[in-house]
Amino acid sequence: MTIPFLDLQAQYRSIKDEIKAAVEQIFENCAFIGGQEVERFEKSFAQYCQAAHCVSVANGTDALWLTLKAMDIGPGDEVILPANTFIATAEAITAVGASPVFVDHDIDTYTINTSAISDKISEKTKAIIAVHLYGQTADMDPILKIAAEHGLKVIEDAAQAHGAEYKGIRAGSIGDAACFSFYPGKNLGAYGDGGAVVTNDQNLAEKVRFLSQHGSKVKYIHEIAGYNSRLDGVQAAILNIKLKYIEQWTEARRKNAELYRNLLKDSSIVFPTEREHCRHVYHLFVIRVKNRDVVQRNLLNRGIQTGIHYPTPIHLSEAYRNLGIPEGSFPISEDYAKELLSLPMYAELSEDQIKEICDTLRDIVD
Ligand SMILES: *Cc1c(COP(=O)(O)O)cnc(C)c1O
Repeated sequence: MTIPFLDLQAQYRSIKDEIKAAVEQIFENCAFIGGQEVERFEKSFAQYCQAAHCVSVANGTDALWLTLKAMDIGPGDEVILPANTFIATAEAITAVGASPVFVDHDIDTYTINTSAISDKISEKTKAIIAVHLYGQTADMDPILKIAAEHGLKVIEDAAQAHGAEYKGIRAGSIGDAACFSFYPGKNLGAYGDGGAVVTNDQNLAEKVRFLSQHGSKVKYIHEIAGYNSRLDGVQAAILNIKLKYIEQWTEARRKNAELYRNLLKDSSIVFPTEREHCRHVYHLFVIRVKNRDVVQRNLLNRGIQTGIHYPTPIHLSEAYRNLGIPEGSFPISEDYAKELLSLPMYAELSEDQIKEICDTLRDIVD
């Protein structure tokens, strides 16, 4: 039995008829860019995030940099982010000409170590990007407090955290703005690229839309030189269908996580910690094991695919070598990068599959 790391086909099979009908409708109407499905999705997704506004864009990376741009963050400014995240978080900062300032992560939750943020704040700091890594919100109270003290913006990188909650508040309405990705493998995934900025700040929402639509509010009247970043009609139609199932799928992910914990307890495997009063949506189920590369290879030999998120902390990646941040600067991120292992995680994963994964893993590790 081969168990894939992600099984998008299983999910497609469960909603195939609805998807086909919706896509057919878009083709019939030729509502390829903009249109009712896009408007409907923006309204529904804002509501899902308990926020006032949603501006759809072409992908999650655009959502991040357009938000920074709309906040007038650029050359000479610094933005704080965790060292362990997907590279897009840092790329958004460099895309607007600002400088990324890294912070190590917490030993239990893998999100940014909030007690290490203050030391990194300078005259130039303009914002903190709190990444809700693996589907769990960062510890937002201390982040919001530090930001208020220093007059900084807080941006949630919620690309992995659709429906996650922090003390009863949904990702998307905690900071000044939240950025989502609808990349196919994300918890709410399109059948192509997609992204959104969600915020309660009307000015910011308008500014992001303005920037993402060639700097125009009225067609062919361009007030500034903007950009082109839009969600297309086909993707919006698909997302409208999938949004109906997201809660059901999230609950299935949470149940799968619980099963993993039960079946792997009393082993040497280290589990992800769920922060109290928070809803982890398990975009990924990331464990830690010694000799990770050997364990991963052995699992693969026995038909179980896994992932590594992420093998290299960003400050050590080739792309950001020029920052000159030496090895040893963020010891937790650097040490954990050698031990992190993401197990298969999706709503359609069966109990038998999880048992098989856990039995095999225990056999290899213990
Ligand atoms: C996926 C992801 C992004 C980027 O989203 P894209 O839609 O792929 O551009 C940004 N941040 C994090 C944490 C992500 O996981």
